[in-house]
Amino acid sequence: MNVVATTGDKGEDDRPVLSIVAPCYNEEAVLPETARRLIGVLEGLVGNRLISPQSMVLFVDDGSSDRTWELIENLHATEPSVKGLKLARNVGHQYALLAGLHRAGCCSDCVVSIDADLQDDVSAIEAFVKKYHEGYDVVYGVRRKREKDSFFKRQSAQGFYRLMRRMGVDIVYDHADYRLLSRRVLKHLEDFREANLFLRGIIPLIGFPSTCVYYDRMERFAGTSKYPLKKMLAFAFDGITSFSVKPIRVVTFLGMMMLVVSLSAGLYLAAQGLIGQPVPDGSFLMFSIWFVGGVNLLGIGLNGEYMGRIYREVKDRPKYIVERDLLASEPAGGRSLP
Ligand code: UDP
Ligand code: MG
Repeated sequence: MNVVATTGDKGEDDRPVLSIVAPCYNEEAVLPETARRLIGVLEGLVGNRLISPQSMVLFVDDGSSDRTWELIENLHATEPSVKGLKLARNVGHQYALLAGLHRAGCCSDCVVSIDADLQDDVSAIEAFVKKYHEGYDVVYGVRRKREKDSFFKRQSAQGFYRLMRRMGVDIVYDHADYRLLSRRVLKHLEDFREANLFLRGIIPLIGFPSTCVYYDRMERFAGTSKYPLKKMLAFAFDGITSFSVKPIRVVTFLGMMMLVVSLSAGLYLAAQGLIGQPVPDGSFLMFSIWFVGGVNLLGIGLNGEYMGRIYREVKDRPKYIVERDLLASEPAGGRSLP
């Protein structure tokens, strides 16, 4: 691809600057192909005059221990539209994505976030951008079907979305973090300073006109999933507890029910004794003590979860630390796609 110098500002070109942000954690196996395809998408969109030639792909290296950053630097050296942000350590997908959104937000009109593993169909980006031109601020990429996912992943994901909805969280079904956000949405996203970051829940809270684009989810192009069961459960738990206090209410309700039931049982047994009927031996009492004890423990545990989260929020620690920023090293005016 030819590299051309530009004057830096968009000048007469009022086409939007698009940034595609892809968090990468140990993605050396797939990165060159991802870059190739995303650059192809950018070139196509520039060719169709849908986006500005200043548009870019921003890879966020989330503290990888393989050659991911080296590859990003090499790509940046040969492909001007590829930029990189290296985080000082692994902070997880959500924060890595946030780092990319914050960084790209300052120099883009709209940003598309996408996983680096090519599971999301990159050709949907054109549809995202067209929706942006129609005036939408948020475009959600929604998976048409999930047959490429394992049975377990499919079922657990479906259960998760259902549970979130039941908890009162406004979440888009089968939408992960493949979406387009306009500059003004990104601006407001900065005001959400919570430590338990769950972007899928936050974006609908921001508002502005939004729509969905359907696409087919594919298998990973290369490499392995960085979301084993343990991480997935932690993510789901974060999602629920950072948006809803319903679990606490369920426990409170359970506790109240147990109180009523055990009180009634006690009264019933007392009445039986009074009228001279044989009273069942202490096993029932034992059982109820254990049960109520269990409910109490669960309640205390859940309270602890929320308190732990409040503790983290109050500390307000930085969510990520940037080690290298290839956007900052750009010469004045930057470089752009042909
Ligand atoms: N990822 C990341 N930091 C992490 C884990 C994952 O930036 O700590 C990135 C990863 O490189 C990929 C995306 O997040 O681009 C989604 O991860 P993955 O594909 O492993 O998740 P899955 O699709 O299996 O749920
Ligand atoms: Mg994946």
